[in-house]
Amino acid sequence: MRQQVYLDHSATTPVHPKVFEVMSPYFVERFGNPSSIHKTGQSVRIPIEDARANVAMALHTDPSRIVFTSGGTESDYLAIVGLAFANKDKGNHIIVSEIEHSAVMQATDFLKKFGFEITYLSVDNYGKINIEELKSQLREETILISVMFVNNEIGTIQPIEEIGKIARENDIYFHTDAVQAFPIIDIDVSSLPIDLLTISSHKINGPKGIGALYVRKGVKLLPLIGGSQERSRRGGTENVPGIIGFGEACRILIENRDEKAKRLAEFKEKMIKIWKESIGENYFVINGHPTDVVPSILNVSFLGVDSHTMIMTLDMKGIAVSGGSACAAGALDISRVIKALNLPQDVTRSAIRISFGLGNTEEQIEKAAKEIAHIVKSRMGKRK
Ligand SMILES: *Cc1c(COP(=O)(O)O)cnc(C)c1O
Repeated sequence: MRQQVYLDHSATTPVHPKVFEVMSPYFVERFGNPSSIHKTGQSVRIPIEDARANVAMALHTDPSRIVFTSGGTESDYLAIVGLAFANKDKGNHIIVSEIEHSAVMQATDFLKKFGFEITYLSVDNYGKINIEELKSQLREETILISVMFVNNEIGTIQPIEEIGKIARENDIYFHTDAVQAFPIIDIDVSSLPIDLLTISSHKINGPKGIGALYVRKGVKLLPLIGGSQERSRRGGTENVPGIIGFGEACRILIENRDEKAKRLAEFKEKMIKIWKESIGENYFVINGHPTDVVPSILNVSFLGVDSHTMIMTLDMKGIAVSGGSACAAGALDISRVIKALNLPQDVTRSAIRISFGLGNTEEQIEKAAKEIAHIVKSRMGKRK
């Protein structure tokens, strides 16, 4: 079922029609295994390398630095677990932020079982880490810092360059989960002090089940899945259609990113303007950083309307928004990220995430904003 207004692009995005078109021959006609010696297999090698070149270009790096994985989750795991095991002779301490994606949290939980120690950096009310706290937590045994580029629930952008510099100065590796940054920000790994970087295809209008990890030259990882594919960094027969689709999605992204970011920023502004006029500024709060934030994500609390009520009421009207991450939305729990911001309880209880993407139109934005205003006003009426 397709909802009329889809505003949950941080959870996933629809596959771009051009991406689908480019992928489709790779299911039935061009089905070969690229490791095979015959032409059926060999003929898909070049398309895979072309796709890798597109992904590499989108990050300003060499194709040899790109490892294809099954998605953002696996890339986070390969970066964190793979690096920890390959460098355990150097130390057993890892620093992450307390608002990382669950993939990073699970990877570090896994490492705890093997004697690694994890420090979780706190964030301020806007979701930013504190650089002084980071410096104070460095140890002789610290081998890795992992802080996400953009948070998936509130859109806050972290001071990536500063964090990377501190890591460099102290001979510590730096990984960043850039799954939510990549759709909006032109990330240049050739000039940023980043050693490992995670991206995912289905957040940029590519297919699900494919992602990549950027690995700086010289950074050693213990492969989590053995096999000769991906230069022995990630075994298993390549997800050929997925890789082709991801490459095409990257090509389209490079062409349209700036224009898209501008358009999404207009959507965000428009919504806020409608609410200011209809509900009034005192009845809603925008969560996340006021300026260091991506235009694709709008996390907002409508005081007095709890998250779940808002999400379900909108859902019945054909409007899809979320309570935070897709994984947290299924449960009624308050999001761990929102909790970490230490906001007043009425703000925490009512936070919803609206995330914009390519398919959205101005009419949809207006419809959703007005519907939300209507829900808020009818609730305000009830309380009187
Ligand atoms: C979606 C997401 C992931 C997971 O990516 P998958 O490809 O779905 O495994 C990881 N990190 C962030 C920040 C995400 O938004």
